[in-house]
Amino acid sequence: MTDTRDTVILGSGCAGLTAAIYAARAGLKPLVLEGHEPGGQLSITTLVENFPGWPDGIQGPELIDNMKKQAARFGAAFQLAHLKQVELNTHPFRLHTSAGEVSTRTLIVASGASARWLGLPSEQALIGHGVSSCATCDGFFFRGKEIAVVGGGDSAMEEALFLTRFATKVTILHRREAFRASKIMLERAMAHPNIELRTNTVVDEVLGVDELDVRGLRLRDVVTGVESILHVNGLFLGIGHIPNAKMFHGQIDLDDEGYIRTSENVLVTHHGVLVPGIYACGDVQDRRYRQAITAAGTGCMAALEAEKFLEGHGR
Ligand code: NAP
Repeated sequence: MTDTRDTVILGSGCAGLTAAIYAARAGLKPLVLEGHEPGGQLSITTLVENFPGWPDGIQGPELIDNMKKQAARFGAAFQLAHLKQVELNTHPFRLHTSAGEVSTRTLIVASGASARWLGLPSEQALIGHGVSSCATCDGFFFRGKEIAVVGGGDSAMEEALFLTRFATKVTILHRREAFRASKIMLERAMAHPNIELRTNTVVDEVLGVDELDVRGLRLRDVVTGVESILHVNGLFLGIGHIPNAKMFHGQIDLDDEGYIRTSENVLVTHHGVLVPGIYACGDVQDRRYRQAITAAGTGCMAALEAEKFLEGHGR
């Protein structure tokens, strides 16, 4: 076991890096465990148009890279490791990570959320063989092909628009009539000549398991019950995310969807009682807004709370 740290931050997305900037500037020398998906969701997105301060937008990976440099400049340390197990019933807290054990006086959980899948066996069998949840990672492989995107939110619209750079046709499949996406994103998708939107439609099976290559989709209209085949070479999922909080199950309070419950100032509870020294920020605790700027905001709050806690304990 190494020396006890003042602050460990789990996750290196927008929330974790903002917490790292604030904690590092406060002299807490935070250690950032970068997690399974270093850089978080922004690192696999394209143009971010709504982060204040960038009138022409900024590429997600560049924004993340800038934040990481900013945190490092003030003394944040980074480790390519993820949390395996955590002991919160002892203080300092004990973390068992893929790179060894760490002990820390405060813990900032910014572990974000990961892509949600439909859960069909055929979908799971074809991940990496035509099925993907990351348009920016895999879109390139679909040049000149036809693809489908599932979802009715902003992610699905954004993925579909991005994929038109490669695909000759993109069909958005949404399970309801009404879309969850913002007006501006929906209008962009609807106006694109190579995008078709199909509502009230679900995917029952991805075809091509034997060939290990997506050959099409068996669809069902949920209103009429009519089944049909859509011939596509790729399937992208844009159906939201699942919070990465499983490792805290039973040690802090999670809501019914698995998000960490926090007080208004990002403090964490167990059986409704505050657990001093632990804070959660960003998408792992935010089922409502889930924006880069709100993640950054709660990351800042978590670092300020950690600093206040340490001050109160004579650090
Ligand atoms: P979301 O808003 O929760 O939308 C998820 C969509 O997937 C919904 O339409 C949902 O259908 C559908 N869905 C969920 N589970 C499904 C299943 N098992 N089968 C079929 N469809 C399913 O998630 P998101 O699009 O990832 O957006 C998350 C947040 O990030 C939002 O606040 C969004 O505004 C933000 N965001 C913003 C931008 C941008 O501004 N450029 C880009 C991406 C994301 P129902 O509608 O029927 O529930």
